[in-house]
Amino acid sequence: MTQNPAREIWQAVLGELQLQVTRPTYDTWLKKTTGVSLAESVISVEAPTPFAVGWLETRMYQLVLKTLGRVNHGIRDVRFLVAGVASTNTKSEHALMQHHSLEPTLSRPQFNGRFTFSTFVEGASNQLAVSAAKAVAEAPGQTYNPLFIYSGVGLGKTHLLQAIGHNCLQQGARVCYVTSEQFTNEFIHGIRTRTSHEFRSKYRASDVLLIDDIQFIGGKEQTQEGFFHTFNDLHLSNRQIVITSDRPPQSLSLLEDRLRSRFESGLIADIQAPPLETRIAILKNKAEQRSLYLEDTVVTYMAQNMPGNIRVLEGCLNRVAASSKIQSSPISLDMAEKAVAAIRNLERTKLVTPPELLSQVEQKFGVSHRVLIGHSRVKKMVRARQVATYLLREELGLGFSEIGRLLGGRDHSTIIHSVRRMETAIKSDPLLRQEVLNIIQW
Ligand code: ADP
Ligand code: MG
Repeated sequence: MTQNPAREIWQAVLGELQLQVTRPTYDTWLKKTTGVSLAESVISVEAPTPFAVGWLETRMYQLVLKTLGRVNHGIRDVRFLVAGVASTNTKSEHALMQHHSLEPTLSRPQFNGRFTFSTFVEGASNQLAVSAAKAVAEAPGQTYNPLFIYSGVGLGKTHLLQAIGHNCLQQGARVCYVTSEQFTNEFIHGIRTRTSHEFRSKYRASDVLLIDDIQFIGGKEQTQEGFFHTFNDLHLSNRQIVITSDRPPQSLSLLEDRLRSRFESGLIADIQAPPLETRIAILKNKAEQRSLYLEDTVVTYMAQNMPGNIRVLEGCLNRVAASSKIQSSPISLDMAEKAVAAIRNLERTKLVTPPELLSQVEQKFGVSHRVLIGHSRVKKMVRARQVATYLLREELGLGFSEIGRLLGGRDHSTIIHSVRRMETAIKSDPLLRQEVLNIIQW
């Protein structure tokens, strides 16, 4: 079909990776990569900047290799190249050193053109967040500062954050938009290349700082420190800060207390899963934007069967749009039913199951399952067991009894006790905090 097998294989790999890494990681580092060539069982992949190449090599190499192996058995290695640069420049350190031009400067943020207030459908579930966002966008630094917006995935945080950004840019404000992962990476890059002053001046030169998905900053001590100072500087000079998160500040258990209390000093607004009428309105709105015609029965069916996450609902719309195009016939209820079924299948495989989580913990600590669920009091085993307990509770939200069952028949009160202990321990033990984070981020 295509002339370039590398491109096609890499697309397949990306499809798999998307299911395995967090969305910010995917969007920041993987989305803009391309498979360019294939030689001697090595695939070459281009990324837009030397920094991205360095990051991919150090942080993604193992995962990419594993995924490649699954997608195409013939490939045994991957090389990352800077797009448009001759292939001798591929080693990360090399690239990092040579390309100082990528030092952070306050460039105009790249917002999604569709993420504006006018395309955001309001309803009871998001009213507080929307009105606060609008107030902030009209008078940055003068109303709620910081504004902290939290919700589950796909409920419009990034959309609202970028809508604020659009508005502020239009008023001539200097706007800085980053995910907390980008922030962290720029910060570390600054330290590594001794350009921290550039990092600082970039952020301090902004009138409006928008940080998306702050939960990923948790546990990275130095970065939290950097963020804390940036935050204070901006806040003291009445610059606007808006932060999004997948949970409220008090549940960001890996965050330093002083940072958390800063977040709590402004306005905290949540977005709930939208009710049926709002989902219908959103779907109609999205269809209209794309000039798609949907009958009411189709809209209702989709909105009823895809509760919660709006991104998934949009994915469903994309699917029916594609079916309709391929079949050259109008969007039908049958297409909608098939799309819903397909997406449900996909979502199921995406969720981490308790056994998967346990096996991640086992791998990280290098202990067997038998030992994990056993009664050894060796420090490493105890620690692995505590981390597993904590993650089953925090990340998967399992009940105490169920966790007890999964961990070899421990009783409910032992588990409660263990979770409590971990909560306290995590606050005072940075190493433990890091261990926990390493497991949940990959
Ligand atoms: P989050 O950042 O909370 O994970 P996003 O902001 O990326 O979610 O939203 C996911 C998708 O859902 C986006 O395409 C966004 O436009 C859409 N969306 C969410 N809520 C609304 C809404 N109330 N009105 C219109 N579109 C919405
Ligand atoms: Mg988001």
